[in-house]
Order: sequence, then structure tokens, then C-alpha cells
Amino acid sequence: MTIPEERIERLHSLAYEAATASNQDRAREYVRLARRIAERNRVDLPRRFKRFTCDRCDSYLRPGSNGRVRLQDGHVVVTCDCGEQARYPY
Ligand SMILES: [Zn+2]
Repeated sequence: MTIPEERIERLHSLAYEAATASNQDRAREYVRLARRIAERNRVDLPRRFKRFTCDRCDSYLRPGSNGRVRLQDGHVVVTCDCGEQARYPY
């Protein structure tokens, strides 16, 4: 793993922990920071990072708490509290 990848992993864990502690503002800061590092270093964000973050408001999604997950037509549909929806094949 490269250093930017390691930093992103670390920020992902921190965002998860903050979201678990209902500290959404802090979780959002970690998500934004990780996105910035990925952009600057041209590395891809891990798949689970993309799946559990909202593209619109940068929230770290915790289904059942600030997001909903549904299965629809062979897709996983993740809905954030801000209204943004993301769908992924599974
Ligand atoms: Zn959102």
C-alpha cells in the first residue's frame, strides 16, 4: 500500500468511528479529507469508502441511522438523509 492509500484507509476508519459515535460533522470532515488526498495523489478511493459516503453532502452513511439501503432490480440502492441516491450492482 502506498502512503496516500494508507492515509485514506485511516481516514475511512476515523469517519466510521465518528459516524458510529453520531458525530456526523466530524465524519464529514474525514470523508472530505480522504477525497482530497485521493484527488491530489490520483489514487482510487476504496470501493467500500465510495459505497458508504454520500457524493452530495459527504456524509458517512450508516444504514438505519442516517441512510437507507434497499435492494431493487439487482441493485443496491443507498439513500442518504439529504435525498441523494446511489445505486450499485451486486
Ligand atoms: Zn447526502
